[in-house]
Amino acid sequence: VSYAPSTVAGKQAAQELAAFSRALYERGWMPGTSGNLSMRLPDQPQKALITASGRDKGELTTQDMVEIDACKGEPSRPGQLRASAETSIHAAVYRTTQAEAVIHVHSPYATVVASRAQLTNTTSLLHIERFELLKGLGLRDPSSTAVAVFPNWPDVPLIAEDVEAYALSATDAPPGLLIADHGITTWGESLAQARNRLECLESVCQLLVLSAAELRISTVP
Ligand SMILES: [Zn+2]
Repeated sequence: VSYAPSTVAGKQAAQELAAFSRALYERGWMPGTSGNLSMRLPDQPQKALITASGRDKGELTTQDMVEIDACKGEPSRPGQLRASAETSIHAAVYRTTQAEAVIHVHSPYATVVASRAQLTNTTSLLHIERFELLKGLGLRDPSSTAVAVFPNWPDVPLIAEDVEAYALSATDAPPGLLIADHGITTWGESLAQARNRLECLESVCQLLVLSAAELRISTVP
């Protein structure tokens, strides 16, 4: 049932996903089997590859992938491994943004900030200003941004619903989001760009924690 790419593009995508997973695992951002990565297939952009559920992210091979319909999040061929439990969140990002690749990890500083910035049972906005690192997010105005923090519903598709509803209402949202007590998701036009944005947001969260300044939080207007 393991993934056997039928095209050169599929094989390259699977190799890239495995390599990025290993690197993020080694940084301590995908403890245990947590976290998941996906990218649209360059030769069939309506489809994406996503890391399989329950695999050790430091030991992924090109076979530990699942081919899905990018916007539906459903397996696009029968007899595959089980897709990541958080596939519905990736699909919500593909439906509502120009993303070609999505990365979700449990990096420590983003997770701490997501815990502190949450509001009970509703999406909050974490306002961030001035940090030079905001320039790494590709914002129209890099002087400030507001990152959405979603409740960590046990039923993951409910998180995906919140992500989609927010993305459709927010015109200037950054290419990343936080999930309370859980972790961070970023996206971009490639895995490398999604990873760079992840590094920037994780670093900003580290600075917020180290500065010990009070977080600026609001409700979604
Ligand atoms: Zn997660």
